[in-house]
Amino acid sequence: MSHDLKVGELREAYITDEDIWRIFTIVLSSKSVKSSTYKYALIKSLIENLYQVNDEFELTYDQLAYSFTKIYWNLIVHHNLINQNRGKTARVVTIIKDEQKKHAIPSEMIFDKVPNPIQVGIVKKVKTTMKENVYGALYGDTRGSFYAFEHKTEILKLNPVVHSFMLNYQRLIVYLTNYHMAAMIEELNEVPSINYLLGKVESIAKRSSLRPFEKILLNHFEATCFYCNRPLSGKKRETHVDHFIPWSFVQADHLWNLVLSCNRCNSSKSDKLPEKYFLESLIDRNEELHERKESADINNLMMNYREKKIIMLYDYSIKNGYDRIWCP
Ligand SMILES: [Zn+2]
Repeated sequence: MSHDLKVGELREAYITDEDIWRIFTIVLSSKSVKSSTYKYALIKSLIENLYQVNDEFELTYDQLAYSFTKIYWNLIVHHNLINQNRGKTARVVTIIKDEQKKHAIPSEMIFDKVPNPIQVGIVKKVKTTMKENVYGALYGDTRGSFYAFEHKTEILKLNPVVHSFMLNYQRLIVYLTNYHMAAMIEELNEVPSINYLLGKVESIAKRSSLRPFEKILLNHFEATCFYCNRPLSGKKRETHVDHFIPWSFVQADHLWNLVLSCNRCNSSKSDKLPEKYFLESLIDRNEELHERKESADINNLMMNYREKKIIMLYDYSIKNGYDRIWCP
């Protein structure tokens, strides 16, 4: 069995888009053996971190475990969907339920609101279980062609061809993964309908609040709207943190894709892409942020940021159908 492998090398470095589609379809659909929802959660975690890879296309187990834990916390605790496995309870469910009980965390609490030291502890435990049950399994299903991994260094290295495939077809892959994950959860839990679940699965990785980012941005920049330059008052609901490239496409909250905006711009922009000249200002803004090396939180959040990444994200979102351009 491949799930208990400790290391997996990339077997086929070059595969065509057609090959990748075929493997993806098999992995997602009922054609491959799935005893749990783990594979979907790992694919969702990879998507959330697509723009967080370093120059070697590597991701750390910590990065992936954070996304993976967040997904399950929100499913299990927040939505009470505790059956994530055929047969016995999935290990990740036991870990999360135990930790919730131990720290007496109410079910309404979404993962990003859980106090940081507790988050770190849970992620660490989930990371261990991912080593035992997750990386090897998806590696086996994709015949070693999607990524290499090594438990000792705790690094997953994406096949560059697969990385670029995922960027190209990100929106479709997100839809497909959410749909199949929801279908499996529906089968395992008593829920009203698949539509009910699809909504939950779609928003599972979303944060409840971008306040921490607002604080960071306000610490380093003037309180003005990124788009219309209007001063932002200190009043609640007047200052917004906006995903420059819409969240529905990125499916992640990268500091380098977040800007301060006024209420008016935020609601009129909605799910649209800003006019290209704003991209230039964002690149300049990020350059400034990148230079604030003295601040540890920024250093961490801007790790692996490259100018080319935000440009790629902009271009790929157009390719993926985000063709409604907005300006204030
Ligand atoms: Zn504005």
